[in-house]
Amino acid sequence: MDFRSIIDSTAFYAGLPFHSLECYYTTDLILNELNRITFFRTRIETLLNTNRLLIQNPLPIYYSKVQTNAKNIEKIKQLSSADISIIALALDFKVQGIDNCLISDDYGVQNLAKIMNLEFNSLLYTGIKYSGIWINFCPYCRKLFDSQIKTCSDCGSSLKKKLKRISKDMLKNID
Ligand SMILES: [Zn+2]
Repeated sequence: MDFRSIIDSTAFYAGLPFHSLECYYTTDLILNELNRITFFRTRIETLLNTNRLLIQNPLPIYYSKVQTNAKNIEKIKQLSSADISIIALALDFKVQGIDNCLISDDYGVQNLAKIMNLEFNSLLYTGIKYSGIWINFCPYCRKLFDSQIKTCSDCGSSLKKKLKRISKDMLKNID
C-alpha cells in the first residue's frame, strides 16, 4: 500500500528524517528555506542521495485552494508560502487517492490541515529532546540564514538572531 508521510520544516528541526530509514516527502519551498542553513544543507543532500527524501510540489490549483482557506483563518497565524505548499501537497495526494499524513509541530499548519480534513500528526509526544542552534532570520521576508550572515540576500534588511529549537540527537552528529 502506498502511504506517504509529508514533513514540514518543524519535522526537520526535530530530526525526524535523519533518524529514520523511512521515506518522506516535502516541497521545494520547504527545502529552499532549510538549505539556507549550512547545518541542514549537507544533511539534506544525504537524504536526497539515498532516496529517503523525495521532493514533490503540489499542482498550482491546490496551492491556490489552500491559500484561500488560509486567508479565512488568518486570525490564528500567518502561514508562509512554504507552509501553504506542504498543506497543498497533502491535498494533492488526497485528491489522487494516495493515503498520506502531514507531520508538523506548527500549530497554524495543523489547524488548517484539520479544517481541510487532511490527516496530520504532531511530533510533540515522541519524546524528542530539544536543544538549540543560533540562526539569523530576516524580520521582513522571514527567510533563514546562517548566523554569520548579517543581511538578507533577498531584501537587504539587517537580520535578527534567534535560537532555533532543534533535536539534541542532531547536534551530536555534527561532523
Ligand atoms: Zn529579507
